[in-house]
Amino acid sequence: MKRTAYKAQKIDKICLKIVFLRAQGRCQIMCGRQATERHHIFDGKWKSYWQLWTNHHYQVALCNKCHLIEPFAPHLNNKLFLVKLEDGLKKSQQNGHWMIIKAQHTALYDGTFLQEARTTPKPDYNAIYNWLVSEYEELEETNWMDLVT
Ligand SMILES: [Zn+2]
Ligand SMILES: [Zn+2]
Repeated sequence: MKRTAYKAQKIDKICLKIVFLRAQGRCQIMCGRQATERHHIFDGKWKSYWQLWTNHHYQVALCNKCHLIEPFAPHLNNKLFLVKLEDGLKKSQQNGHWMIIKAQHTALYDGTFLQEARTTPKPDYNAIYNWLVSEYEELEETNWMDLVT
């Protein structure tokens, strides 16, 4: 395996861990079911830009029904899905997470993201990985604090 492919895989793996840790096992639509799957928010675009697939904020944990079957499932109706996701994140006190998704969504469609993406075509995988590790550790600590208080 190529070295960059290995690094990309490590980044993807830690993103996955963060996504499920942050959701505390729940589907982020707050449908009451367990989360079993990860969804990349910017479907159709996320594979083309490292800025999208290396950022855990642009990924959410969902149950299979909300991911693929419900009428608002992102792979069936993405617009409706974003409305449901906003509700779900607000219900679970993750308004800040929603704001990050919303800002990126706006940037993607008003062209500012693409402009910026062109100026930074190559990712620094080491820096990204280190950032993700710190994000993971911070989350772990927060969850621990929840148990104490
Ligand atoms: Zn998906
Ligand atoms: Zn669900």
